[in-house]
Amino acid sequence: MDIVKVPFGDIKLQYNSIKEEIDEAIQSVVDETAFISGKYVKEFCENYSKHYGVKHVIPVANGTDAIYIALRMLNIAEGDEVITTACTWISTVETISQAGATPVLIDINDQNLIDENLIEKFITERTKAIIPVHLFGQMCNMEKIRSICDTHELFLIEDCAQSHYAELNGHKAGLTGDVGTFSFYPGKNLGAYGDAGCIVTNNDALAAKMNMFANHGAKIKHQHRMAGINSRMDGIQGAVLNVKLKYIDDWTQKRIDHANSYRALLRDVSNITLPTLSEGTNKHVYHLFVIECDRRTELQEYLKSKGIGTGIHYPVPIPFMEAFEELNYNEEDFPVASRKQSRILSLPMFPELTESQIKFVCESIKEFYN
Ligand SMILES: *Cc1c(COP(=O)(O)O)cnc(C)c1O
Repeated sequence: MDIVKVPFGDIKLQYNSIKEEIDEAIQSVVDETAFISGKYVKEFCENYSKHYGVKHVIPVANGTDAIYIALRMLNIAEGDEVITTACTWISTVETISQAGATPVLIDINDQNLIDENLIEKFITERTKAIIPVHLFGQMCNMEKIRSICDTHELFLIEDCAQSHYAELNGHKAGLTGDVGTFSFYPGKNLGAYGDAGCIVTNNDALAAKMNMFANHGAKIKHQHRMAGINSRMDGIQGAVLNVKLKYIDDWTQKRIDHANSYRALLRDVSNITLPTLSEGTNKHVYHLFVIECDRRTELQEYLKSKGIGTGIHYPVPIPFMEAFEELNYNEEDFPVASRKQSRILSLPMFPELTESQIKFVCESIKEFYN
């Protein structure tokens, strides 16, 4: 068996670094049987709201529900169209279908983000909302997208599942739209120890509605004012996130430092393209470090043989998935996504990576092409 020298990700290392605090936090939840919602979830939401700089943080069961709840409470329904990107995790698109609406998919730009210059061409009478996804940790062009939404009176939902604390031109991910949705899936930049998510907004009325909908349509127990869903955050997740929130700034900086190291070490390799940054004051938080490369399958195999883990995010763009066949898209509709599909490769990226591991990855890549 190959010895893993540089795993693609490692969430155990992070646990070991804060084990005592985490164990104590989990034990308190059990001791107090604060299993669902409750004190620790409330505490986390208050802390996240302060630290992120947003008025309302609505705790939910996962990042997928966060998008679904936002869509439903913005009254997106059958007959409506919602514009989003061709390249994302399936949640962004499947929730549009769940709400009864039709997803309208747009090709990506050089940064793997929704091409803001193509959006207006796809707006129709039925368009109700746009969901930009700040993929891999880099924000979309929100100035342009906000202005499109204002002109055409569309709702704006930011999928921030991969972009906690990302910024573009001084604006944080999730705070330009009507709502921002977050995932705290264990592997995300801020990750729980199970499924969890939240929705952020500065809109009081919308916050109250989303909170109620996520709790069976009731604000006060047994007073159901609408037919809602069960999408609550577990107490253990709230307690774990509360501990981890103290370290998120440090962990984010480490991701940025690692990305800078990769950039410096891989600068002269002509067979690969480093991730490009969109213009402006750009704080990319590198949920993933995605390069484009020649002979991807062979490179991936070679790295594997050296004990280096890699990933592909994502192997198939949404419009080419069996699940969305009925949308009847062709490869020609998505020239950029199609071209990138066979070239993208995600290198190891997590805060606890060491400088020598990064060097080893880069040396191995150079070795392969030589
Ligand atoms: C992870 C992710 C989600 C969904 O989050 P879950 O908590 O796994 O439901 C949604 N959108 C994007 C872009 C994601 O990466």
